[in-house]
Amino acid sequence: MIDLPIRDDLRGLSPYGAPQLDVPVRLNTNENSYPVPDEVVEAIGKALQAELRDLNRYPDRDAIALRGALAEYLGHGLTTAHVWAANGSNEIQQQLLQVFAGPGRTALGFTPAYSMHPLLAVGTGTRWVDGRRDEGFGLAAEHAVAQIREHAPDLVFLCSPNNPTGTALDPAVIAAVLDAAPGMVIVDEAYAEFARPGTPSALEVLPGHPRLVVTRTMSKAFGFAGGRLGYLAAHPAVVDAVQLVRLPYHLSALTQAAARAALSHRAALLSTVEAIKVERDRIVSVLRDRGLTVAESDANFVLFATPDPDQKTAWRALLDRGVLVRDVGLPGWLRVTAGTPDETDAFLNAMKELDR
Ligand code: PMP
Repeated sequence: MIDLPIRDDLRGLSPYGAPQLDVPVRLNTNENSYPVPDEVVEAIGKALQAELRDLNRYPDRDAIALRGALAEYLGHGLTTAHVWAANGSNEIQQQLLQVFAGPGRTALGFTPAYSMHPLLAVGTGTRWVDGRRDEGFGLAAEHAVAQIREHAPDLVFLCSPNNPTGTALDPAVIAAVLDAAPGMVIVDEAYAEFARPGTPSALEVLPGHPRLVVTRTMSKAFGFAGGRLGYLAAHPAVVDAVQLVRLPYHLSALTQAAARAALSHRAALLSTVEAIKVERDRIVSVLRDRGLTVAESDANFVLFATPDPDQKTAWRALLDRGVLVRDVGLPGWLRVTAGTPDETDAFLNAMKELDR
């Protein structure tokens, strides 16, 4: 090993690394299993073609047209000034940490939650505090508030619906956190489009909460993970603040054009959401009928207790049957993405063999 002068706080850490294995059934990164529909492929192709001659020029640094289209999609009276976009919601969250946290500041999250939140905190030199969820993966308002009082974080991460557990937060918890937090509150809503009916978005409480930021992505419901487009909605002052840390021209002209074309065909892209929810609910009910403990899901994935208390054995056995799921490091639990009916069948059949 070459001894490089890596920062002390990064030494010995592992990078984010969901396995990218070439197996028949890939249900480990909560992608949308449905390929981009032909009409959208064609529209994106045309939009990219139209950009090519101008690639000698830098793209629109402020991505105005794209932000307008995203604001229109979100509704809730939001405008271009309330929305900011970047290469995935990971980059959005990194920018938020850079501008509102960083060295000498603290971010608080409630794990198990999205594994990138602590990694992004460390990468930006932010002290990470783990607030922990309860045994059943719930988050009570009193616990969240007590953690905030104890640590006075500059930034709080909430994740709703929560990855990897799947369940959306009670709006009362978000309200209590907003009341108690001395700094910024990020609600990561990467899976919002899959929530069960009656689950409100934190977008509803943006008016009157200038320190609330809701992050979203086109990677999941839109089936646009390869396009890398994430965004936030917040008070326009938050969007202005993020300008201090964003790289100039961070969103390429090709990304902006492809995302705009995808948004203008959003009905076709989002048409898979209902079918995916059906598969998610089928996974939950079949596994429960077989006697397994399964978390409630408002997302496009399901967290389930494995028959064998060592989840690594079950993960390997599923992989041996051509089904890749996610070991999120929770002893006795695995996470499976809801995809097509055929993928659900393959997963459920492989699970049946594990029971024997
Ligand atoms: N937030 C959550 C909760 C996620 O699960 C993911 C993707 N796994 C992301 C954010 C990041 O998605 P992207 O960078 O593709 O927008």
